[in-house]
Amino acid sequence: MVDIAALARLGGVRKYGIDETLFHFGDPGHEMFIILKGHVGVYINSLDGSPLQVAALKDGDFFGEMSLLENMPRSATISALEDTVCLVIDESNFEQVIAQQPGLAFRIMKGMSNRLRQQNEELSFHKHGSQPQEEESSTGVSRASAPLPLNSDIYPPGHKAYPLIAEATHDTYLFDSETTCPVCEKKFPVKMVRSSKLRLDKIEPDMRQHFHDFEPLWYAVWICPHCYYANFNFEFKQVSDALVKKIMEQGQELKSKIKINFSSPRKIDEVFTSYYMILHTLQAGKVDPTKSAKIWLRLSWLYSDVEDEEMYNYTSEKALEAYSESYFNTRRNTSVEQDQRLTILLGELCLRVDQKEEALKHFRNSIVRKGGNNNLNRQAEDRIHDLREALNEETP
Ligand SMILES: [Zn+2]
Repeated sequence: MVDIAALARLGGVRKYGIDETLFHFGDPGHEMFIILKGHVGVYINSLDGSPLQVAALKDGDFFGEMSLLENMPRSATISALEDTVCLVIDESNFEQVIAQQPGLAFRIMKGMSNRLRQQNEELSFHKHGSQPQEEESSTGVSRASAPLPLNSDIYPPGHKAYPLIAEATHDTYLFDSETTCPVCEKKFPVKMVRSSKLRLDKIEPDMRQHFHDFEPLWYAVWICPHCYYANFNFEFKQVSDALVKKIMEQGQELKSKIKINFSSPRKIDEVFTSYYMILHTLQAGKVDPTKSAKIWLRLSWLYSDVEDEEMYNYTSEKALEAYSESYFNTRRNTSVEQDQRLTILLGELCLRVDQKEEALKHFRNSIVRKGGNNNLNRQAEDRIHDLREALNEETP
């Protein structure tokens, strides 16, 4: 274990208030941080440019070591989830810290070796190409699902009950915390993800990330059990004052109809409900297509896990509709690479609904020679190649 008190005596202690950003993705940096007290969220940019919380770190966890040791730009954005105190280590006190805490050096090395292995796996994934495959993750899911006996206020027609429950391995990657609802201001318990343990196994062509023995999709939504406000955990606090009253009213109405409860282990039915609850919460304000798109895409992934083809197709269409609206009608402030990802995703969604010509256009648009990401260029080229062959076969 890291002796926090001893480390604090080496100086470089910094305090951060709730929601304060320690550093942004891409920032230059020469320091690493050890959390002495508090919690921080780790955010990466999702494919549509919005921050996606991939993990939370707590007392004793560290981050930023790649910047300290190799002057690498920051690979994620880190923000305080509560008042947080960190020990900041730079070149001037690094040796002293390691001399006092040799165990820490070992943990840093272990972390770096995990990271390198992940990168290699990702690289080899890109090299060997990636055909969309039926996921092997379906753990004996029966397709004979019964219709949900619930009030269908928040579920679309065709949604059923599914017998899938969380794998026991999920617990290793979770810890309990508490948050305050920004709508009703009451506290409630939440599950947070330990990022230091996550291992990326592979990334699908539609940008879905698969982690070893864990599925972050199951824990990405928080629902306040008091007022029924639901949102992604990484933007849970982002709710405008104007909407608070409306969300409270909607919640009151829903309370009599739907029971929300996360079991332990979590059931996929509860996970589905949590995503539909965000869509319901969104109705309180002006519906943002980018946000609906994110939800429909995630729902389509979940339906593919339970092998409900009909609902997979339905949610794929909804995702395509919303991403297209977001792509063509809203002003985006995204990087070249994020645009590439979004365009590829549009292509993949078109493929899912059998719009091959449209898909081909998107894949062509996603290729950016100057300043684009070469892995993404290659991914699009592979798709274009496959599509040309498929289209030629159709029209001999
Ligand atoms: Zn609440």
